[in-house]
Amino acid sequence: MGPSLRLEPPGVSVAIADMSSLEQLAQNLRVAGEAVADSLSIAEEVAVSNVRDAFRKKRPVPCPSCRPCMPCPVGIDVPRFFEIYNDAVMYDDTETAMELCRDERIEPGDCTECRVCEGRCAKRLPMVDWLETGRSYLGL
Ligand code: SF4
Ligand code: SF4
Repeated sequence: MGPSLRLEPPGVSVAIADMSSLEQLAQNLRVAGEAVADSLSIAEEVAVSNVRDAFRKKRPVPCPSCRPCMPCPVGIDVPRFFEIYNDAVMYDDTETAMELCRDERIEPGDCTECRVCEGRCAKRLPMVDWLETGRSYLGL
C-alpha cells in the first residue's frame, strides 16, 4: 500500500506543507498523487500519533509561539528563535537551524538581557536563559 494523506476535518481541500527544496516539493507531489483518503488503520494512526508525540517531547522550550513577548527592543524574534532551536533538537539538525537564523537575520547574541520579553511572556519562561542555551547549542 502506498503513502496516504488523511484530510481532516472533512471539507479541508488544501494542505500546505513546509518545503525548502525542489526535491521536497517533488517528493510531496508524488505522495499527494498516490495518496488515498482514510486508508490508515486505527493501529497505524495510533503509531503515527505516538511517533509525533515522541518527537514533540524532545522540544526543549515549551513555547507555543503565542508572541505577547514581542517586540524585542533590539529586534530579536525570540519565539521564532525558540522554534528554530526546538526543531534543531527535535531533528538533530543544527546546520539547518544555523542557516535559518542567518537567512532570517535572527541574532540572539544581540540580547541585552533587559528582560522586557520575560515580563510579557504568557508562560513566564526564563527566556534569556533559553536564548543563551539555544545560542550555545547552535554555536551562534
Ligand atoms: S531580554 Fe533580550 S530578547 Fe528579551 S527583550 Fe531584552 S533584548 Fe530582547
Ligand atoms: S510569550 Fe512566552 S510562550 Fe509566548 S511566544 Fe513569547 S516566549 Fe513563547
